[in-house]
Amino acid sequence: MSTAPEAVVEFDAVSKTYPGGVTAVRDVSLRIGRGELVAIVGPSGSGKSSMLHLMGSLDVPSAGRVLVDGHDVAGLTDREVSALRATRIGFVFQQFHLAAGVPVLDSVADGLLYAGVPPRRRRARAAAALARVGLGHRVHHLPHQLSGGERQRVAVARAVVGGPAVLLADEPTGNLDSASGAAVLALLRELHASGTTVVVITHDREIAAVLPRRIEMRDGRVVADHAAEAAIGAHG
Ligand code: ADP
Ligand code: MG
Repeated sequence: MSTAPEAVVEFDAVSKTYPGGVTAVRDVSLRIGRGELVAIVGPSGSGKSSMLHLMGSLDVPSAGRVLVDGHDVAGLTDREVSALRATRIGFVFQQFHLAAGVPVLDSVADGLLYAGVPPRRRRARAAAALARVGLGHRVHHLPHQLSGGERQRVAVARAVVGGPAVLLADEPTGNLDSASGAAVLALLRELHASGTTVVVITHDREIAAVLPRRIEMRDGRVVADHAAEAAIGAHG
């Protein structure tokens, strides 16, 4: 095993300007090591989702370099980016994005469609992922038969079923009442404790306050990176 801290996400002087001229990310450099749990926090419009899109290879920078799991995203073909996303990155959004009328077991199994897992193994893996998020007794339910908090836990199961290098969550508690939000946050912390690298975007300072590393954004810039030194030290 390597003794050097491995970066799962690395930004080197990254900026993102959208067509139309809004610069959402300005000259950001950072690294997120394997096994970290990181909050990206800041007010609405500060560039958090733009950062997540860049980390998730959903977008490419206008300047600078983004490495995801060691790959320079700008240097990959469309096919390679799709493969990277399908196998190495899990996404959770504020909206749960579960297909209506589809049993949750199948929704989670679909998380493996492009991961090269044989069809008959997908459902077994999906059942295990649902058990991991505490929904082993709900696998045949339809989304409308679940609470918001349960739906978000299904979305988390779908995001981690392929064993991604990093789980990216954009305001995962934004549509939930505080109890369900706390349960989803606890789940993300459990996943982190069992080895998953997790990046959580939130505008909620209370959520961010309990996470070990907090990257604060303002107007597209990182204005503070609390506990980053301690986190890097812990890996070295
Ligand atoms: P946050 O997630 O912190 O609310 P965003 O990254 O969504 O911030 O947005 C940062 C800025 O970039 C905002 O001014 C927003 O209007 C702008 N923006 C975001 N996405 C796009 C886009 N696809 N095209 C143009 N402007 C965008
Ligand atoms: Mg956002």
